[in-house]
Amino acid sequence: MRLTHTKILTSVSLPFSRFGTHDTLNFLQESFAIMKKEMKRPPIRLGILGGGQLGRMSALAAANLGIKTTIYAPEENSPAFDVTQNHIIADYGDKKALKKFAESVDVVSYEFENIPLETVRYLEKFTQVLPRPALLEVSQHRLKEKQFLNDLGIPTARWAAIMEPQDMNEFHTDHKLYESILKTVRFGYDGKGQARLSKTDDCKRIWKKFKQDIMIAEEVIDFKHEISVIIARDIFGKTAIYDPSRNIHTDHILDVSIVPSGLSEAVLKKARNYTQKIADAVDLVGVLAVEFFVTKDDKVLANEIAPRTHNSGHWTIDACTVSQFENHVRCVCGLPVGSAKRHSNAIMKNLIGDAIYSTDQYLNSRDFVVHNYGKSDAKPGRKMGHVTQIFPLSPLSPKLKSR
Ligand code: ATP
Ligand code: MG
Repeated sequence: MRLTHTKILTSVSLPFSRFGTHDTLNFLQESFAIMKKEMKRPPIRLGILGGGQLGRMSALAAANLGIKTTIYAPEENSPAFDVTQNHIIADYGDKKALKKFAESVDVVSYEFENIPLETVRYLEKFTQVLPRPALLEVSQHRLKEKQFLNDLGIPTARWAAIMEPQDMNEFHTDHKLYESILKTVRFGYDGKGQARLSKTDDCKRIWKKFKQDIMIAEEVIDFKHEISVIIARDIFGKTAIYDPSRNIHTDHILDVSIVPSGLSEAVLKKARNYTQKIADAVDLVGVLAVEFFVTKDDKVLANEIAPRTHNSGHWTIDACTVSQFENHVRCVCGLPVGSAKRHSNAIMKNLIGDAIYSTDQYLNSRDFVVHNYGKSDAKPGRKMGHVTQIFPLSPLSPKLKSR
């Protein structure tokens, strides 16, 4: 018998609804019972939709656990193909190829949230897809996402659905705002599909430029910091939360992630609690990342959720007992979640575009670990690799050192 997620699916398919607590609890108990019976022990065959660096690093982590990965991606020469024996090159709409893929693996996961929902729904006919597509659906649509967060009592920037230019003027007036950010509801990444506008701008002109039926307007948060929290949750409901990282963006692309973040424990606790609340509410299986803004008066506002491994968690490979990638693989494959304990302080820096050609300085240093994704075309803005500078937390005890 396969898991059906009818209750959660129904509740989130409606644009802006709540999770009924009672229903969710019943559902959780049922689903755990079924999944525990169904999940296998290695050798497990894992399928990943998407062949980018996140898929590549997940497949590497899977290999370490004796799990074989098949990557499904439309692009030839996908970076993840280099590290797996099996891959399928086909479109996300190719039903024949999808069926073959689903039947060749025990569980399917995905490495980015813009996988078409129809693709994962189709795969669910043949195999389990984790994290659950219901959560994917919420993360693919900024309006559903914001409503979902607010329904859970998690604060965000004030926002409104925009269906015509006049709505933008009303949003500014209603909230006494001078500025706002207009975003497409779907397919945004690295700040694409966004425009900042002020009360005096020509909303009609900006609206026309985007050619969308519906968009979201958000107040501009004058944040002090951006942080993110990554949580992994297994089929038994056990979780591991990584230390929140402080994230610095350059030209709308993540540049650096720093742990420890240097923020107060009160702030970090709020962010961790919100993240835990989301994971439990949706019966998460796998990894989820939540991005937050921290304001000058220490308010913690959720910005985005991603039910997948996250760029701001790459430091976990070199600074934690079990990385976000290994934990994602463990959880979706029905294995127990591992420790998120951090054994080193870390600074992760993305190598964007040409920066990939200047790795000698890092390779010659004792403090850096270099990760090159093996991409051939170093276009500006393209994430080509990353480096992690590590600062071990404490030296080995003298007893161990002498061995
Ligand atoms: P990414 O792929 O980097 O996560 P994205 O395209 O999905 O980006 P967001 O995360 O919503 O979009 O926005 C990108 C960046 O723009 C944020 O990290 C933040 O720096 C800035 N930003 C977004 N929304 C707001 C806001 N309401 N107020 C202030 N800054 C914002
Ligand atoms: Mg973001």
